[in-house]
Amino acid sequence: MAAVMRRYGVQNRRVLVVDDNRAIHDDFNEILGASGNEHSELDALHAELFGPPAEPELDAFELESAYQGEEAIERVRDALGAGRPYALAFVDIRMPPGIDGIETTARLLAEDPELGIVICSAYSDYSWEDMVKTLGQTDRVLILKKPFDPVEVRQLAHALQKRWELARTVALRMEDLTDMVDARTRELEEANVKLELEAAAREEALQKLEESNAQVTALAYQDGLTGLPNRRLLNEHLEKVLARARRKSTEFAVLFIDFDNFKLINDTIGHQAADGLLKELAKSLSDLIRLDEVLTQYVDTEVDLDATITVEPITDSVLSRLGGDEFVVLLPDTRDRFAAGSVASRILQHLERPIRTQDRDIVVTASIGIATFPEDGQSVDTLIRNADTAMYHAKQQGKAAYQYYSAEMNAASVERLTLETGLRRAIEDEALELHFQPQVELGSGRIIGCEALLRWRDPVRGYIAPAEFIHIAEDTGLILPIGEWVINRACAHAVEWQRAGLPPVPVSVNVSAVQFRRQNLPEVVSRALAATGLDPALLDIEITETAIMSVRARAVESLEELRALGVTLSLDDFGTGYSSLSYLKRFPISMLKIDRSFISELLSDGATSSITEAIISMTHILGLTALAEGVENAAQIEMLARLGCDAAQGFFFSAPVTAEEMPALLRRRRLPVPPTRAAVAK
Ligand code: C2E
Ligand code: MG
Ligand code: MG
Repeated sequence: MAAVMRRYGVQNRRVLVVDDNRAIHDDFNEILGASGNEHSELDALHAELFGPPAEPELDAFELESAYQGEEAIERVRDALGAGRPYALAFVDIRMPPGIDGIETTARLLAEDPELGIVICSAYSDYSWEDMVKTLGQTDRVLILKKPFDPVEVRQLAHALQKRWELARTVALRMEDLTDMVDARTRELEEANVKLELEAAAREEALQKLEESNAQVTALAYQDGLTGLPNRRLLNEHLEKVLARARRKSTEFAVLFIDFDNFKLINDTIGHQAADGLLKELAKSLSDLIRLDEVLTQYVDTEVDLDATITVEPITDSVLSRLGGDEFVVLLPDTRDRFAAGSVASRILQHLERPIRTQDRDIVVTASIGIATFPEDGQSVDTLIRNADTAMYHAKQQGKAAYQYYSAEMNAASVERLTLETGLRRAIEDEALELHFQPQVELGSGRIIGCEALLRWRDPVRGYIAPAEFIHIAEDTGLILPIGEWVINRACAHAVEWQRAGLPPVPVSVNVSAVQFRRQNLPEVVSRALAATGLDPALLDIEITETAIMSVRARAVESLEELRALGVTLSLDDFGTGYSSLSYLKRFPISMLKIDRSFISELLSDGATSSITEAIISMTHILGLTALAEGVENAAQIEMLARLGCDAAQGFFFSAPVTAEEMPALLRRRRLPVPPTRAAVAK
């Protein structure tokens, strides 16, 4: 800015004298040239007019001469072109043989509109009015009558010079202002464009979030394969039906349907065809279940489901798929226990018709177990479990039949009792151990963590998988000491490996909802960290969605407390429980583990892969890492990499290994990823 301001000190003392008489040029030289300044009389006048003389102010004018109008015009044009314009010109009115002073003036003004002009006239042949007629109204032209009064000449010269300088200063200032305004406008425009781009990006992210949200909601309530209500919808609905049945003292029934020999069918016709068959069966069953005549025959029609249920589709009965070949029918408001049996036999009858899939007719039979409220259970879990037990019994009786639940038939309860007794002694007997499965970054193959998985070593049965005993441990509360043992053991192993000089890798531990509810988990974790000396950053706690949701109100607080210890949190089995985005946002988790059921259907089912993609992008929008569980082959990895998944875990990389086998894995640091992926990563 300072550099610009300096330009305002404009000076121009250049004067052009235009006259055909050479003597006149000498006169002007005398008056305005260097010698002219010796006139003390003029100095005094100048001081009077413009104040005390500032240094260059009284310098001589720089005079140049032209003898004809045409020549003057050329000089003015050249001076302008060279960037050295004249401030003013004295123009004689008569200059034979060339053009006269008036025309010269007009053309000079046309050439340089800034130029000040003094027309010198010895005669009164041109009046002011005449000049105005030719030159138009102008304040740039003055008239000087001959013979010249030197004082008047200097006065005119000074006045016009000042005027020129002032006009130029104003013009420069205007130019700077315009530049400034332009620059500022450009800045504002650029800022505007940037803001608009940012707004658009935000808009896009929000929209994506909403889309994922919608997809996740759909997937939360619908079975991916058949489109039927899933376990979650069934559970929610059952809870409401149960509450209402209690209030109104009504009855309802749960039918557990399992197709016979489905594993055999699966192995025979192949996984894909078996999926197709399941879809057909689901369709066929839902046709039947929705048949009013079947239901109205046995079931009260006046069903008044409470208004709080908003999930579609809710009819008076609900057919849902739990997974695999297991379906459940809920019959609300049965008049009596026997209504359910009639529906079950109609279902079995309906299934006698062959189902056509992939150009084959297949006859599928089913076994159905029935549990009714209030006789066979007081909670949703018990009712489903008992219907399952009854179904199992029907199978043992020769299949293709239905069975009502009865307490005696519960063979499983004996088995369960045995397990429970054994489990109580497992810790003391040191029969529990942890196996570990590596978690691998897809881009690099780097081992970024390992999950501790609990095993129960039985002298007779070998390793018992957690699926078989965790729920018993939860029901009996044994999960509390077992869970604490797991956390301690996992930390201890991690420290051991580090001491052995292996690269430090975070270890993930699964915790159950019961631990959240009944144990001070943050305290247990912090004790384990203190006892083993493990860096908290190397401990990750895996919680399932269902666990979080079951302790809703306190969940955020407990999770925050855990985070405050410095450990990280992951959401396990994502997609199988309450996948509410609004909840996800509130939890301080850093990784989301996509459930194995998505990965196993990734390549065979288009819907699954789009849902998986939606989950991954949602995960990224929330700033979390997406890990795929149960990856078993290279094709799945390639697909996951394409969908943008960050990491994976599964048999493809390694099955869970013992703590003794783990160091060898860790030492490798990286596990091979499929070559195409490696090429992309580069
Ligand atoms: P999870 O946390 O989702 O663990 C992953 C399960 O998938 C493990 O089963 C693992 O062996 C299995 N798996 C890993 N890769 C593959 C694969 O490529 N294909 C297939 N088909 N399966 C794979 P696991 O060890 O039987 O554990 C089952 C579940 O039991 C775990 O699921 C977890 O929810 C629970 N669990 C395990 N250990 C503990 C524990 O210490 N505490 C609690 N509360 N639960 C545990
Ligand atoms: Mg887990
Ligand atoms: Mg899992």
